[in-house]
Amino acid sequence: MHTVDELISAKWVVPIVPKNTVLEAYSVAIHDGKIFDILPTKQAIKKYTSQKNTCLNDHVLMPGLINAHTHSSMVLFRGLGDALPLMDWLKEYIWPAESAILSADTVEIGSELAIAEMIRSGTTCFNDMYFYPLNTAKVALCSGIRASIGFHILNVPVQGFKNEDDYLKAAVDYYHHRPKSDLLSWAIMPHATYTNTDASLRRAAELANELELRIHSHAHETLNEIKMDMDKYGKRPLERLNEAGLLTDKTLLAHMVHLTEADISCVKAKGSSVVRCPASNMKLGSGFPNIPEAANNGITVAIGTDGAATNDNLNMFEEMHLTALVAKGKHQNPTVLSAHQVLEKATIQGAKALGLDDRIGSLEKGKEADMIAIDFNHYLTQPTYNPIPLLVYAVNCMQVSDVWVKGQQLLKQTTLQTIDIEQTVIEVKRLRDKVLLACQ
Ligand SMILES: [Zn+2]
Repeated sequence: MHTVDELISAKWVVPIVPKNTVLEAYSVAIHDGKIFDILPTKQAIKKYTSQKNTCLNDHVLMPGLINAHTHSSMVLFRGLGDALPLMDWLKEYIWPAESAILSADTVEIGSELAIAEMIRSGTTCFNDMYFYPLNTAKVALCSGIRASIGFHILNVPVQGFKNEDDYLKAAVDYYHHRPKSDLLSWAIMPHATYTNTDASLRRAAELANELELRIHSHAHETLNEIKMDMDKYGKRPLERLNEAGLLTDKTLLAHMVHLTEADISCVKAKGSSVVRCPASNMKLGSGFPNIPEAANNGITVAIGTDGAATNDNLNMFEEMHLTALVAKGKHQNPTVLSAHQVLEKATIQGAKALGLDDRIGSLEKGKEADMIAIDFNHYLTQPTYNPIPLLVYAVNCMQVSDVWVKGQQLLKQTTLQTIDIEQTVIEVKRLRDKVLLACQ
């Protein structure tokens, strides 16, 4: 008998790699935060002994979901304003609200609310872009979730930043003061081409090289953004990103709604990844993401919720559901994107986009134990013929019962283990009153 830290036995294990696999009555042995073994439960109980045995008799065990594009603490502006064009919504609601409450402390409160929602709904890793990145990193570390944290660059004078040079200086400063943890990775985030000059885009590319950071940017989200660049520079946003040296195999491009064949070829040639955010794209009337074309071109395509201000949740199960429906409806073709391909985008493809696919994104021996369990003993998932389509089309995120990151349990039988959510909500309600005053 070998001794391991924890043995988790589940009715079904969906490891994502290999494809379309459902292992029935299997166990996962965890040791030192890693997946030590995956084997039939009958063999596991003879081979392994452990202090902690978790039996999930009606559950699916699968890799944790990866939210590849979000602005976590913008959850504080969830539901603020409705049915407005993007610029009106920003001017009337978001910018006044941000100037009324944004600080290191409030970003921590917002990050905590967002991370609680993400853990509760099965997300084990998120890729974030917002102000006060080290405060979001601090909260992520306390919660035990995995995160990629970005230093964003934009030519908009807010939060004490006068211009893009201030943001660039701050990015270097954040980098040197970042907390060290293998649960955290780091990115430079030029917000978008329409909020940056060519000089700041080039400097961001240099910093990515010098500091070995990934690159994360919004791109081709709206037709208006493309028109703005064409009018001012005579170039499409992707051309400007490319000329600045920002299209690399370490680059994540969020949205990518409006693409030509040349755009897609360019992204493929550079090896950059795409992050689709269908809920946000539809709520803002930006358009329908071109998911199947990109997938068929060998481009890594991940999924993100965007911020909860434009979604209005951080629920990756809903985002997977929309990803599948939008693709099939847009192309009038039910055969595009199988349920398993959608699951891949929310797991192994997200990991690949973040450069973490050798560590997370699937349940394989030697990978880190970032896992979630979903309780299928609920009428929403009955009858269960094959759990894979139900994970995309039927599961309610509140059926997520247990969550582990690197072997640490963050959600146990639906209870958050590392966040005092009742206290967080009290603080969020206090901030709500200030936001309401600012938006009157
Ligand atoms: Zn965004």
